[in-house]
Amino acid sequence: MDLLDTPDAMTNWARGRERHGVIGLVPTMGFLHEGHASLMRRLRPLCDHLVVSIYVNPLQFGPGEDLDRYPRDPDGDMAICRREEVDAVFMPDDLYPDGFATQVAVHGLTDRLCGAGRPGHFEGVTTVCARLFGLTRCRVSTFGEKDFQQLMTLRRMVEDLALPVRIVPAPLVRDRDGVALSSRNKYLSDTERRRAATLHRALFALADAVDEGETDVASLVRDAGAAVDSDRLEYLEVVDARSLAPLERIGDAPARALVAAHYGTTRLIDNVAVGAPLSWS
Ligand code: AMP
Repeated sequence: MDLLDTPDAMTNWARGRERHGVIGLVPTMGFLHEGHASLMRRLRPLCDHLVVSIYVNPLQFGPGEDLDRYPRDPDGDMAICRREEVDAVFMPDDLYPDGFATQVAVHGLTDRLCGAGRPGHFEGVTTVCARLFGLTRCRVSTFGEKDFQQLMTLRRMVEDLALPVRIVPAPLVRDRDGVALSSRNKYLSDTERRRAATLHRALFALADAVDEGETDVASLVRDAGAAVDSDRLEYLEVVDARSLAPLERIGDAPARALVAAHYGTTRLIDNVAVGAPLSWS
């Protein structure tokens, strides 16, 4: 496994390989867990050269967010990448060149949900991914449904900009207690962790209620919101799974229930599919 620690090293590595097969990229911010490993396993059969990038991207953190204390474990990350038979880890200290002046923004899909609570976040995500796609010359990349709005936003970006990268979704991986795996779970106290388990329970109950015939979103959201135990519920919404537009009723189109909640200084997100399944093309 190669360790590449500068953008130049990454591009040189990719230049030598892109003619001999498909490069696949799993972009991450490190402190890797089984959710990230599942992305590597998802991508491994779809590419010839598997790259994992590890970079805590300052552009996607707002003022007062957890950039400075974001958990890091380079040795543990390398061990997981080795176990998953990754070909190269791209772990730069700096990703952006002097004079960097470009921003990629996807409008509409990023206006609400996490975009409302974290202004500038998605512009940071789309900008870093555009640069990572360029540096790694990847033709396929995978993103977790854990960050559903991010996944839909990146699919829009590659389509709108005609980037030669296929974005493959990967299912959300949960811990034994049902809590969505996240690097930020490390911040939770035992009590907060128990309370955080109400997030997925509330979402699953909402999806069950839809399966049993409930279609009124206001009622679904009211019940689910009441079942969440958090310090602050940032949002709990049911939206059209493709446009992320709010719904009043569950109809025939695939929907998604998404939640963001705070436990002390920790912000967690989760989501579940609701109603008709979403078919990815
Ligand atoms: P992060 O390191 O948190 O920026 O995440 C990097 C990638 O891993 C993103 O595509 C996330 O959606 C994905 N990811 C993080 N947690 C999970 C999880 N529990 N299940 C599936 N994918 C995940």
